[in-house]
Amino acid sequence: MLIRTWILTVLPAAFGLFFIGCEKQLPESHPSAPTETTEKETAMPVTVQWFGHASFRLSNGDTVIYIDPWKLSDAPHNGSLVLVSHSHHDHYSADDIGEVAGDGTEIIASADVIKKHGSGRAIKPGQTIEAAGVRVTAVAAYNPAKQFHPKANNWVGFVVEIGGKRIYYAGDTDETPEMKALTNIDLALLPVGGTYTMNAQEAATAVSHFQPKQALPYHWGDIVGSRKDAEQFKKQASCQVTVLDPGGSMTL
Ligand SMILES: [Zn+2]
Repeated sequence: MLIRTWILTVLPAAFGLFFIGCEKQLPESHPSAPTETTEKETAMPVTVQWFGHASFRLSNGDTVIYIDPWKLSDAPHNGSLVLVSHSHHDHYSADDIGEVAGDGTEIIASADVIKKHGSGRAIKPGQTIEAAGVRVTAVAAYNPAKQFHPKANNWVGFVVEIGGKRIYYAGDTDETPEMKALTNIDLALLPVGGTYTMNAQEAATAVSHFQPKQALPYHWGDIVGSRKDAEQFKKQASCQVTVLDPGGSMTL
């Protein structure tokens, strides 16, 4: 009787577990498993182009994002999204937004920029907006001990999630608790020119705190800072650093 009960209950249960185990393994080896889409998306590189000073273009396939476009030499009108960090003239340029904006270009910027520009969506530090297929989170950008960029202005930097990467554009800022709290940044675009923002040494210290995988120095070569600042940052930072010439680009 005992043996019969064992055959009727334990054996089927053991086989059941065996088949559940097999099912669990299926998605990893099955050719149409959902992971395939993710692999394709991340396989498409993200290109980061620096136009000089604080002006960038991020692209991933058809998605093109301009950040603080300024002194651009052509008018591609191909922006999916334009991000503007604050209303200082070297970051907010209505003319340059006009060069990159076309039909359907979305604009996300600090509230003072949206007010001046007359269109777009205002974003506050800590807020996340999804637009043009990417997630944009605003990070507070300010000088804790200087007057150029007061915290009360609610000016911003951005974490852009594009092509499976998290790219942080710091804006005009010193190191802040908000910057220190960032995690999982694949590429940090950091100002190094000093005076209005972090200098090279301060940017290297910031890197040691939030530990991005890679960094790229900007806010040099125009208005304030020189290549020497960018090279000093490269020497001192504890992560891989790419120094670009204006117009140059890198891929992630
Ligand atoms: Zn500024």
